[in-house]
Amino acid sequence: MFDAVIGQALPKRLLETALQTGKLSHAYIFHGAEGIGKTTLALEFAKAIVCEHHTGCGVCSACKQFFSTQDIHILEGDRSISVNQIRELTTEIYLQPFLFSKKIYLIKDAEKMTVGAQNALLKVFEEPPRYAVILLVTNSLTALLPTILSRGVQIHCAQLHPKELKEYFSKNHLPVPSDEVLALSKGSVTEALALAESQDYQSMRKTVLRDTALLLRNRTSKDTIRLYQDFITYEKEVNRVTDIVASLIYDASLTDVSLRKNTDFSDVPSISLGEASALYEDIATLAKALSQNGNYAISVLGALLRMKAHLG
Ligand SMILES: [Zn+2]
Repeated sequence: MFDAVIGQALPKRLLETALQTGKLSHAYIFHGAEGIGKTTLALEFAKAIVCEHHTGCGVCSACKQFFSTQDIHILEGDRSISVNQIRELTTEIYLQPFLFSKKIYLIKDAEKMTVGAQNALLKVFEEPPRYAVILLVTNSLTALLPTILSRGVQIHCAQLHPKELKEYFSKNHLPVPSDEVLALSKGSVTEALALAESQDYQSMRKTVLRDTALLLRNRTSKDTIRLYQDFITYEKEVNRVTDIVASLIYDASLTDVSLRKNTDFSDVPSISLGEASALYEDIATLAKALSQNGNYAISVLGALLRMKAHLG
């Protein structure tokens, strides 16, 4: 059961027991850090509750209709969850289930509920109709009223072990971040993704800045080919690469150092305004060629050779 959820052995066991013994509470509060699978676990639990086999088998008619029935409500808010959103819930909840024996209300980011919203929820949270189960998911227990906390079963979701994070990425066919990133990500998938992305971007930026600076300064074929190889390596992010190259051309054309865009990169060569404007045009031509789906390698090489020619 709960195969979609990585880790969380203890919460899984608790919920499985509740399902198997039929001793379901009317309210659960899933809490823990961001990006560790709380919402996935709550959703899987909801599926198992309505599933004909109480497992979330995925094949019974209840499982198949899970996302299309009016018996399952998923509530979320942009910045906050308003008292009106909760009032809608507390009115609707008294309508009998449509298809299933249970109605489920899943409130994502429950900490976004205003105090008014929480007070409005409290009325049904204490004693919802017997067929209703309310699931709150939150990363901040302290944002919830003590009266709410005391009336739900708290399910504490733990940070994921680096091994579990790895499992998550490979199971979802995502590139597995480096061990260094996994160790730094505080057991959170969200954190690992952000970290991996920013590390990749930072290392790409460093490389492209360095190699663009070399071409602008030394102006040799070797420098042209080096930057060409960067474009090949980072083909998937070519828009970012051209932005980085353009930003360094801009910095190199300035006489006033304080106006530079790359404030953390000091090794900036100096080029004339005439050169800068010719190079900008080369980059613009390249961007246009790429947007028209021309041959990638040929377009890039052509642009870089024109740049080299413009640099004399
Ligand atoms: Zn099922």
